[in-house]
Formats: sequence, structure tokens, C-alpha cells
Amino acid sequence: MIDLAIWPMSLETGWLLALAPAAALAIAAAWLVWHRRASRGRGDAVAATDDRSTPWHSLSATEVLERLATPETGLEQAEIERRRGAYGPNRLPEAKARSSLARFLAQFHNVLIYVLIGAGIVVTLLQHWVDAGVIFGVVLINAIIGFIQEGKAEDALRAIRRMLSPHTLVLRNGVRREISAEDLVPGDLVPLQTGDRISADLRILRTKGLQVDESALTGESLPVEKDTAPCPVNTVLADRRNMSYSGTLVTRGQGLGVVIATGTMTELGRISALVADVHQLTTPLLRQVAQFGRWLTAAILTLAALTFVFGLLVRGQTAADMFLAAVGLAVAAIPEGLPAIMTITLAIGVRRMAGRNAIIRRLPAVETLGTVGVICSDKTGTLTRNEMTVETIATAEQRLTLSGSGYDPHGGILREGIDYRPERDSRLRELLRAVVLCNDSDLIQDGEDWSVNGDPMEGALLVAGLKGGLDPAIVTRDWPRTDLIPFESEHQFMATLHHSHAGEAFVYVKGAPERILAMCAHQRDTTGESELDRASWQARIEALAAAGQRVLAVAVKPVPAEQVELSFADVDGDLTLLGLLGLIDPPRPEAVAAIRRCRAAGIRVKMITGDHASTARAIAAQLDLANHREALTGGELETLDDEVLCERVERIDVYARVSPEHKLRLVSRLQERGHVVAMTGDGVNDAPALKRADVGIAMGNKGTEVAKEAAEMVLADDNFASIAHAVEEGRTVYDNLMKSILFILPTNGGEALIILGAILLGFAELPITPVQILWVNMITAVTLALALAFEPPERGVMRRPPRNARQPVLTPLFLWRILFVSLILMAGTFSLFLWELGREVHLDYARTVAVNTLVAFEIFYLFNARYILDPVLNREGLIGNRYVLIAIGVLVLMQLALTYLGPMQTLFQTAALDAATWGRIVLVAASVLFLVEIEKAVVRRWCTRPRPGSVEHG
Ligand code: ATP
Repeated sequence: MIDLAIWPMSLETGWLLALAPAAALAIAAAWLVWHRRASRGRGDAVAATDDRSTPWHSLSATEVLERLATPETGLEQAEIERRRGAYGPNRLPEAKARSSLARFLAQFHNVLIYVLIGAGIVVTLLQHWVDAGVIFGVVLINAIIGFIQEGKAEDALRAIRRMLSPHTLVLRNGVRREISAEDLVPGDLVPLQTGDRISADLRILRTKGLQVDESALTGESLPVEKDTAPCPVNTVLADRRNMSYSGTLVTRGQGLGVVIATGTMTELGRISALVADVHQLTTPLLRQVAQFGRWLTAAILTLAALTFVFGLLVRGQTAADMFLAAVGLAVAAIPEGLPAIMTITLAIGVRRMAGRNAIIRRLPAVETLGTVGVICSDKTGTLTRNEMTVETIATAEQRLTLSGSGYDPHGGILREGIDYRPERDSRLRELLRAVVLCNDSDLIQDGEDWSVNGDPMEGALLVAGLKGGLDPAIVTRDWPRTDLIPFESEHQFMATLHHSHAGEAFVYVKGAPERILAMCAHQRDTTGESELDRASWQARIEALAAAGQRVLAVAVKPVPAEQVELSFADVDGDLTLLGLLGLIDPPRPEAVAAIRRCRAAGIRVKMITGDHASTARAIAAQLDLANHREALTGGELETLDDEVLCERVERIDVYARVSPEHKLRLVSRLQERGHVVAMTGDGVNDAPALKRADVGIAMGNKGTEVAKEAAEMVLADDNFASIAHAVEEGRTVYDNLMKSILFILPTNGGEALIILGAILLGFAELPITPVQILWVNMITAVTLALALAFEPPERGVMRRPPRNARQPVLTPLFLWRILFVSLILMAGTFSLFLWELGREVHLDYARTVAVNTLVAFEIFYLFNARYILDPVLNREGLIGNRYVLIAIGVLVLMQLALTYLGPMQTLFQTAALDAATWGRIVLVAASVLFLVEIEKAVVRRWCTRPRPGSVEHG
């Protein structure tokens, strides 16, 4: 006959328990009020800006500049300070996706919790105050823990997103530089270029083929061409061609605008005074777990109902008593802490990735990273250093080399190893003048250090000019630029138009050699000019590229002095080729190491570059790509149909002269082959491929804002090695999520089995009371399980193949492990409880032994859970995670308090234990450590295919 004294507390104690949640609720409410006030206070510090009534679009450019008191060279520092004081920072107030109250209430929106609340209400109606206190206590404490942890996770993500705050170019005091978009003030001059996100409202002053995607503001999906002419006052926003608004994107061309409104005074600020924060704290795995939670709840409810019926019919208990027993079972079986632990694990992973320069923009990418099987990476700057140096110059009759290194212009020009006098070679000087003029970058000297402001390749060309005795400042003064066709990856060249003071005019063009060769009919040589010898130039290009050099061709065309505009027709044929330049850009040593690690991790790295095929192959060999002998060019790619390409992409690792559209095709074919693909990109046209890839990766430094917006992840340092780190962290986060599940579920399983077993076997006393179960669940979730969220990457994490994206969360191995450990926990706890009862100790004493045994089991099992299949009985396994040791330390103190402190003894019905009892507890509990290690060894043996965690530590 069962004595269902499973709620063995006095009424006073029950009131205490019922009051505790109320007090906690009051504290939580107070905190909420404070928190809301504090965040409201923060939100107030938002800027206002300029006078809205001015019809800027109807004024001429000169009038606009006059009204804004902006000099042609941009604002000066003192004025900028003054305006920043007057108008505040250029940003919109951040909107919280949910208020704190909504977020707190959302903690209760969970099927598991509904069941507990339902049970709590029935128990209250039955006037079992103690039991009601227990249940509502569980619910409330769980909500508070969830609320705090989720808050921390959201804060962490917000901080990471702030790392992605937009930047903008600005012209101040005659100098072009990049600043944080927040620092813009009305009157600032903003140079615009392809890929920029406009960060304030601008009146356009100059344009060169400037097109802007305004869909964010007007809904119009086609880009709008901009010009500078004033519009009528009543022109509607969408038709104001001379204005560009905050939040829109430059899809093509260049331009210059002056800021007329910032912050909340912009059109964007007017429409939505708040930036909606649509980041959600969920991933496919978390959704799967939530789904599993619903399934589990149904199972628990069925089990509880069966228990209820069993007690009623077989054991002849009253309905009320059996209902309470069923509720006890539910409290034990439901893994209340799991969702919060998973969220915090995810947030810790994202933070750790940010620490390794991989900034996650969309959370599901964290998980996808762990399944990536192919990484398609750009070459320049990602696999290579993007520190270019001109090493070779080839003219029609000679090949010269340049000495010196980096951007330091000290060095000279050599011919066959002997110093060469460039001042005597007018053809060489013309070539160098062309690359100095057809150039948008600046060299910056800081003491002994030289760096480049702008494209590193163009910086290297300025250095070559200096080595040849040309001073860029003088050359650009003598040959001012009248117009340009900016470089774009699609057309692979840049052209500029210059007029000398002597009345001459020239177009200079530099770009990919095939492209330039196609534009030329002549070549510069000793006779002045002769017919272009294509074959010999081809051979020269091939030779330079095979040596791993990036080749650039330079050409010139004289034009009538009155021509002041440059169009594509001007450079189509009839140019004179001046020569070639060969630049070196050494591979990043860390990229070479990362490629090796990726290979060990079963990830194929493919290099996709705009460069020449031979250059690409030579660099691929230096990087040690799996197949660096073959290269597929963009041209060849176009001739292949999808089926053939599908088969080729499997084998080929080097793709050269590839344009952004080709990238999209490559990703699609790789995905068709079943690969999970990560793809890097930086330009506007890379956006479709980035969106299509499973993980789109944008470059943080040289990437355009458009690419960043399309990407799932942004690399703060543009470095390939950071992608490999992110994959490692992605695999680790997934492992840690699995480890939390594998740790928490057997705890609940063990507790449920203990209660179920006691009822079914007709025990007089339950080994653990529901209050004690509550204690164990809450205390171990916030200590032990949380420690798993901090697990460092396993040593073998990059020596196993990528996880199969379609693999379900709960594999047979998982289910088996959960059952196995639950049974060990149940058997051990039950045995010791019975042993103690056999010694005829007080029931409280035996229960205290049971609670401590259960907790001690969990402490030992935590070590097992650190590695899913790898052995932990080694130095790394036992002391490799200090959080585990700290958590155990805290938990031991809590257990001692539970066992020996008077008030705790009253509240939890515990009793002080003697040393011999502790010895028995530790002995029994330690068994799980060894049993699970034996089980892992058996599984490892039977496991022929590697699984997560299956790689032996070397
Ligand atoms: P990767 O894709 O590996 O990063 P990339 O981005 O440098 O390479 P593109 O920028 O598309 O590739 O450049 C393709 C080719 O265009 C280069 O090989 C070079 O010959 C030429 N090129 C690159 N930058 C310029 C420039 N600023 N002016 C003129 N030509 C250029």
C-alpha cells in the first residue's frame, strides 16, 4: 500500500514556498520598471537635424552650399564639432523588438510551462498550498532565469551588431577619409561610389553615371539615375533626381553629395522613427528542440495520466492524491531549463565568433557553418595579403624589375640586375605617368611607415611611379583629370581623361591585359608607334602570370583638347599599348594554414578570382589548394551547360576571370551536387551569390555595404583564416547545444524514473520529494548545464567531416545514451535510498542521501557530457574547462548548504549526513563516469563511420 506522503510539508512551510515566488515576482516587476526607465532614458539622446522646410531639391548646387555654409573642400574641424553639438549624432533611435514585459511574459509561452501552470491551478483548487507553491515556484524561477539569460544573449548580439555600424566616406578640410556614419553632420561633403549605403539625406552636387536603389524608401525596384539640376519645388520625393536619401544604396557610378539632414530629420527617420530590430533568437536546431519539447510534453502527459489511472484502479488511491503524484512526475520529467540554456549557448558561440573576427548577421548561420562542405573564397585580400608591389614592367622592347618592398618608395628600377635610369627612357616615363594619373589612391607616410589610402593595387602603382622618379603630386597638378570611367569588375578597366597646360589631351586606360589588348591597335616602341604585335604581348602576359604576378596593361589615346567627357566609345579600339606591369601579392601565411585545416576537416576550398588564369593557378599552388593544376575561366564557364558544369565544379578548385554572375552559377551547381556552400564577396554584384550561398560572407573592410547586407556573416579582417575559425566555432556551438541536451535530458529522465518506479513498485515513501526535485532541476541547470555552454572546441573538431545538415537532432545514439544514463541515475539513487532505509535511518536522512546522490551523479556525468563520444578520462577531459570546475565548486557548496543549514533543512526536509554516507554517495555516483566511458568505447568500436566527437585526440 502506498503512503502518498509525497508532499510532506507543514502548512507554514507551504506558505513560505508560496510566498517566495510572490517575492520573486515583486523583485522582477521592480527590476522591469527600472530597466524600462533606464532604456527609455538611453533612447532620448537622439539627434534632430536641419530645417525641414527648405526645398533643397529646388535650389542650385551653389545655393545649397551657400545655405549650408560648406566650403568646396568640406567642413573644418571646429565647425564639425559645433554642428555635432547642435544636431547630435546621425542615427535613429534603436527600437527594441519586444518590451521587457513582453519578453518576460514570453517566457511562459511554452507548452511545458502551460502544463505546469494547469497543474498548479488544479492543485490550488484542491487547496494544496505547498504543492501549488512548488509548481508556481518552478514556473516563476524558470521564467526569471530565462528572462535574464535571454536578455544577456540579446545584449551580446546587439553589441555584435554594433560592430557592423556603417561607415561613410567624407571630404573634410580637403581630405577624403572614412568615418563612422554616426559622425556625419549637415553640410558634410560625401563622396559616393558603387556599393555605398547612403547614411544621411544628400543633395547631389556631382555625378558620374550615379544610380541609386531607392526601393527601401520608395518601393521602386529599379535603380534611379541621378543628376544635379534643380527640380521644381513641388516635385515628389521619388522624382527628386538631385537628392539621395538615407538608407538607399549606390548601385553604380560615382558622385558627390552634401548632407542636408541627419538622424531623425532624414526622410527615413520621418517614416520610421525607429529602426526595427528584427533579429530573432532562434535557429533551425532550436526550432527542432522546441518541436521535440512539444512531443515530450505529450509523452509526459500520457505517462502521468497512465500513472494516475494505475494508482486509482490498481493501488486504490484517491483521485486527489494520484493527481498530485502525477504532477510530481511532470515536475520531474519536464526539462524546464533547456530552452534558456540553448539560447545562452548560441549567444556565447556568436560572441566567440565575433572575438575571432567573424561577425554573425543572421543567427541560423551559426549552425549552418558547422555543416559547410565547400568554401568559395575570393583571392585578393582574403587568401592573399592585398599588399601589392609592382615587381615587373614590360614594354615593347624590354623587361625591367623593381627593387624595394611594400609601399616604401625607396628602391629603384633594374634591367638585367643593373640599375636603370628611368629619366632617360621617355616610354617608361609615359607608362608610369599613365598609372599615376589613372589612379584614385594616395600614399600616406607616417615616419618610416608607408600605407595606402584606397585600392592597394593602385597604391603600388604610385610607388612604382616614385621609384621611376615621378612625383604623383606634380604629375597630377600638371595633368589635371577632367573625367573618368571608374573601375568595375564587369568591365575590368579604368580610364581617365587629362588635359595638360600645353593644351594636349589624353585618355589613359589601365586594366586586365586581355581587355586592354582588345582595345589597342598600336604599341609604343622606339619608333614611336607601330602595329600591335598581339602574339608577343600574349606570351609576355602568360609568362608574368605563370610566375604568380597580377598583370595590368596600360594604354593611351590622344583626344582633341576640347573633349571634356569620357565615354565607353572613346576607349573602344585604336588605343596604343604602353606596356604591362606585373604585381605580386603574396598569400597570407595564415590562409595557407587554414586551408590545410579545412582539408583535414573535410571542407573543399575553391578560389574564385577576377585575376588571370595563370596567375590564379600559380597562387593556388602557393596556397596548396587540393587541385591547383586546373583552372576554369569565366569565358569557358559560359560555354558549358549546367550538366557539364555540375560535374566540373566537383573537380576544379580554381576559377579565374570570373564575374559576379558566374559566382551565382557556381554556387547553384555546387548546391545541386548536395554541398553546403559558403561564399565570400565584396561588390554590389556579389549580392545575389551571397544570398544564394548557404552562408554568404562579406568582407568587413573592403566589402560594400550592399554585400554586407546580403551576407549572413561579415569578416572583420577580410581574412580567410577567420572563415575557418568561424566554421570551427560553428561546429563547436552545435556540439555544445547537443551536449546540453545530452546532459539535461537524462537528469529529468532519471528523476522521472525514480518517481515512476516508486509509484509502480508500491513504495511507501518516494525517494525524492517534488520540492527536492525542483531544487535539483533549478540548481543543476544554472550551474552544471550552463558550464557546457562555455565548452571550448574539441581538439578533433576540425579533423572530422562536416555534419550532415539533414541529420535529425535525436539520433538513435542520443536516445540510447539518454535512456542508459537515466537508468544508471535511477538505479544508483534508488539503491542508496533503500540501503539507508534498511539501516533504519529517518526518512528525511534517506531522502537527503537520495538528493545528494542524484546531484553527485550529475557532477560526474558532466565530465562524460563534455565529449559526446571521445574519452574524458584524461587531463584535458577532466580539467580542460574551468567553468565546469567552478560550477561543480558552486554546486558542492549549495549541496552542503542544503544538507547542513537549519532553514534549508526545514524548507527542503533534509538532514545532516555523516562522512561514511558521503563516501557511499561519491562511490555510487562515480560509477556513471566509468560506465558511460565504457559505453562510449563500445560505441566507438562499433561506429565505423566518423560521427561528431568520434575522432580520437591525437
Ligand atoms: P579577387 O576576385 O580575387 O578578389 P579581384 O577582386 O581583384 O580578384 P577584380 O577586382 O574583378 O578581381 O579584378 C579583375 C582584374 O581587373 C584584375 O586582374 C586587374 O587586371 C583588373 N583591375 C583590378 N583593379 C583594377 C583597377 N583599379 N583599375 C584597373 N584595372 C583593375
